[in-house]
Amino acid sequence: MTPGAEPVDAATDAARHALPRVLAAFDRAIGLEMTLRTQAPPRAAQAAATPTEAVQAPNPRAATRGDAPAPVVVPAIPASSLRAPGDRSERAARLGEIAARHAAACPHCTRAAGWTNLVFGEGAPDAEVMFVGEAPGETEDRLGRPFVGPAGEKLDEMIKAMGLARDTVYVANVLKARPPGNRTPQPDEIARCAPFLVEQILAVQPRAIVALGGSAVRALLGVDTGITRLRGQWLEWAPPAGAECPPIAVMPTYHPSYVLRTYTPEVRRQVWSDLRAVMARVGLGG
Ligand code: URA
Repeated sequence: MTPGAEPVDAATDAARHALPRVLAAFDRAIGLEMTLRTQAPPRAAQAAATPTEAVQAPNPRAATRGDAPAPVVVPAIPASSLRAPGDRSERAARLGEIAARHAAACPHCTRAAGWTNLVFGEGAPDAEVMFVGEAPGETEDRLGRPFVGPAGEKLDEMIKAMGLARDTVYVANVLKARPPGNRTPQPDEIARCAPFLVEQILAVQPRAIVALGGSAVRALLGVDTGITRLRGQWLEWAPPAGAECPPIAVMPTYHPSYVLRTYTPEVRRQVWSDLRAVMARVGLGG
């Protein structure tokens, strides 16, 4: 399974000129040449779908019994989640409330088959950087935590190389339930579950989101453009109407599973370039 308009110049410029020790350390760690490339101009990004309808009653696992496909009922975002988040503990409480509501009422996850544990997401409730993956894999499903299998080890490396500790970032997925056979999430599944990701973003309000792979880009930005074309460019996540949240910068990059499968110097260089742009943007190592 793998997987706006945003001024990019300041960030990329800073990345181009600032060569802090942590970057050199990363390069040593993963054996890369530091080759910055000029990023393509920013592109307009779509807003995340604004949920409008009420949550339907859960119908556990009905989809597995060959029932007719469920209509796409997109959960509404409650007013409490649209308000500006408070301090760290208020954000943590809000995330806990969202997690509980998701587990009880997600129109995708409460019907999906084959998962053992829901994987809501974890990390600092006031993180400056948020990573969004696709969906839990086998290990994540077993442990109920995001990115703790092989892809998670790669993500941990990436986070560390950025000079961050895992518990200072927030990590979530588009889908909170492992898809059967680790298949790629389908558009209707994303439509049903992703509003909870929107709520997570509104609670954390990070300065930058790293979209790990195509499913994350699709869910966050509503575009189907391939990750190979989009990666490395600052895009923008648009909050739902009425939310007390500014647009948030999104950096698409390759999913760690793809990096593991395609472990070429070029892919590693590209991912590192993307992460450096994020570091520059949030003032890390600049
Ligand atoms: N892949 C993902 O997209 N998310 C996880 O949590 C693990 C693997």
